[in-house]
Amino acid sequence: MKDASPQITPETIYLKDYTAFGWQIEDVHLTFHLSPGATRVVSKIHFAPNPDAPAQEFFLHGEEVNLIRASINGEVVSPQVDAHGLRCDVPSGPFLWECEVEIAPEANTALEGLYMSSGMYCTQCEAEGFRKITFYPDRPDVMAVFTTRVEGEMPVLLSNGNLKGQGDGWAEWHDPWPKPAYLFALVAGDLVNHPGAFKTMSGKDVALNIYVRPGDEGKCAFGMEALIASMKWDEEVYGREYDLDIFNIVAVDDFNMGAMENKGLNVFNSSCVLASPETSTDGNFERIEAIIAHEYFHNWTGNRITCRDWFQLCLKEGLTVFRDGQFTSDLRSAPVKRIEDVIQLRARQFPEDQGPLAHPVRPESFQEINNFYTATVYEKGAEVIGMLKTLVGDDAYAKAVDLYFDRHDGDAATIEDWLKVFEDSTGRDLAQFKRWYSQAGTPFVDVSETWEDGTFTLTLSQKTPPSPGQDVKEPYVIPVAVGLIGPNGDEVLETQVLELTEAEQSFAFEGLSARPVASVLRGFSAPVVLTHDVDRAFLLAHDSDPFNRWEASRSLARDCLLAMIRDGAAPDAAWLDGLEKVLRDSTLDPAYRALMLSGPTAAEMAQLLHENGVTPDPQAIWDAQDQLSQAMAERWQAFLPELTQASNVTAPYKPNADQSGKRSLGAAMLGLTRRLDGGAAAQAQYQAADNMTLQLSALANLVRAGQEDPALGHFYDQWKNDRLVLDKWFGLQVSASAPEQAIDRVDTLVAHPDFDWQNPNRFRAVFGALAMHHAAFHHVSGRAYALLTDWLIKLDDKNPQTTARMCSAFQTWKRYDAGRQALIKTQLDRIMAKPNLSRDVSEMVSRILAS
Ligand code: ZN
Repeated sequence: MKDASPQITPETIYLKDYTAFGWQIEDVHLTFHLSPGATRVVSKIHFAPNPDAPAQEFFLHGEEVNLIRASINGEVVSPQVDAHGLRCDVPSGPFLWECEVEIAPEANTALEGLYMSSGMYCTQCEAEGFRKITFYPDRPDVMAVFTTRVEGEMPVLLSNGNLKGQGDGWAEWHDPWPKPAYLFALVAGDLVNHPGAFKTMSGKDVALNIYVRPGDEGKCAFGMEALIASMKWDEEVYGREYDLDIFNIVAVDDFNMGAMENKGLNVFNSSCVLASPETSTDGNFERIEAIIAHEYFHNWTGNRITCRDWFQLCLKEGLTVFRDGQFTSDLRSAPVKRIEDVIQLRARQFPEDQGPLAHPVRPESFQEINNFYTATVYEKGAEVIGMLKTLVGDDAYAKAVDLYFDRHDGDAATIEDWLKVFEDSTGRDLAQFKRWYSQAGTPFVDVSETWEDGTFTLTLSQKTPPSPGQDVKEPYVIPVAVGLIGPNGDEVLETQVLELTEAEQSFAFEGLSARPVASVLRGFSAPVVLTHDVDRAFLLAHDSDPFNRWEASRSLARDCLLAMIRDGAAPDAAWLDGLEKVLRDSTLDPAYRALMLSGPTAAEMAQLLHENGVTPDPQAIWDAQDQLSQAMAERWQAFLPELTQASNVTAPYKPNADQSGKRSLGAAMLGLTRRLDGGAAAQAQYQAADNMTLQLSALANLVRAGQEDPALGHFYDQWKNDRLVLDKWFGLQVSASAPEQAIDRVDTLVAHPDFDWQNPNRFRAVFGALAMHHAAFHHVSGRAYALLTDWLIKLDDKNPQTTARMCSAFQTWKRYDAGRQALIKTQLDRIMAKPNLSRDVSEMVSRILAS
């Protein structure tokens, strides 16, 4: 019954067309008879007419499932089945639907539905994977209580909810909380368990487990600590208690995304949960902690309150990213977290919002929902929550969120519901604020100043360029946090939030004795591009807002690189002097100082050049960045050893903020030192390293210095049996190489016996690194474009979701010169011409081409 023919014109789904499903489900009983090539799934579902829905034919989603038998109230029926599901005549009242299907997990390479990874069975159902398991109304507004029996010759058999019983070759699970099918999960395998326990605030005991493949049990302790910290934090900060007897996490090697919040049974990409000092970097630890928190926090923001339809994805994702960000800020350093988030936002969300893939935080149409798990929905969605909190204040935010939980627990909700809660609890009209959900594009905010008779006036204006399908944008409500600093460096006005609601608006500050310096958009209070002609060197020296102090240096760095690229200028000595003072200030957090040294990314520079009417030349950006770093190294030759010394950690390794901050400053120093000593310090660090953070930064510098032999081979031999470390080995050879050499490396690496291209982590290690290496990816020969395309075409047959995500590497193509555009166009056309192109990739590439 599987229809293999390609969809010629994929169907577009619209938010405005939403209609409720015609039936409600009382309960679902599933029985799985597991077998790699032929798993049988038996479902028993009690349907009853939904009084709130319009009349409709009975349709259940189902893809790549073989119908064996179906019956209604015990009578055999013969539904009409097509590639998308089945239709059937049903009684007018309640009825019992019973059905048996067969599926082949072993043949499932898309990693959606029930599939196999390293011998274990696992599922991924979000967004629309459950329909690959059995026939079902696979939509988030259909919620049901699931009982799941798993039968198979595997020692560990897991599903959602509480364990009801188990015996040899079977286990039965019951999840008392009604849930949509996308939160269903099943795992079966030869797994080992790292147990833990948690007592909730009302005194209930919860058993915690992290299940991993044998051999990985030594890498679970950190994840367990992070889980316990998350459970405690959600109780303390949001008053949210866990609601089952058990919480399971499983690590799988083949996974398209980071992790998945299935009720009571979170499934994680093993790279997002397994950690040890020897094999994981500080960055890995921080990310793992955040993802564990994120998935756990979904239990309330996502599971207890879910989304009515997939257009509302940001309802759970924006809010949950915001929550995990608060958690990281509380556990680690709030300023450092804010800066890291903004770096990411500019690197990933801004290009999306300013290019052909731009879409509102709440999109209004899609062909393939998997293409909308984007930086816009997640990260901009979180920024929107942050702005809302800034506008209403912390207390009102807390009150409104409480009301949200009270009012909508058990619901499949919408953005309207979310905003209504804030309107009802604060009395504020959020109609204009809602534009953040409906309009795409990054607003540009311009600031101008006047000073007259003791009155300082800031005039703010906003403008948002057109994006696909949206030519005209209405003004947003933009919270602009501002502080004023007197000429002596003292703050004369503490941070205030200005509300910019018009296209242009002025704000006057009276009674000042001298003209102040304005620190605008403190804490990056809104996701906008700010232009403001201000004394940045002064802000770098005096701003009390750590974000804006960092931003002052970052924007001086941007201007410096811009002048170097455009006018062949020398590095800006005045800025470097100011920066040196910050670096030498031992009262400042080392992590913060390290971030001060992180220059603008090449992609950021390409965007800036483009905004300034200059066609970016990727090699010229690379050269300027290289010259700037070289100038820093030479200028600071004398104090590099001093600062390196100060960033040394003598205590036993811990992945905490304090130690990892020191190591990140050390890594920045090592990068500069390598430019002076030809790699000697990196060599010494490599030999002495007893943790992955130090080992990897040393290795990267050896590659950069052209001193990778024999370290690269040594690293491979040491770690060839650890697939997560091996991913780093693959990725680093690309990311740490000079542009042309990086492409050569990819050519070599794809022929390596360990290049398992069907494993998304391994594929991304190589091709993600290539796509992120700006000067290599955009090499004038077009070699990298062609190479990536060859592999995308190959991967599309196996895994459309991961292929489609990687297509976004081409989204900025219209910034570049005609030659590069032509080279890219050729590759995009090649993709479009591929036989049986997936709906995922077809949608992505058509959108990119339409620009
Ligand atoms: Zn999420």
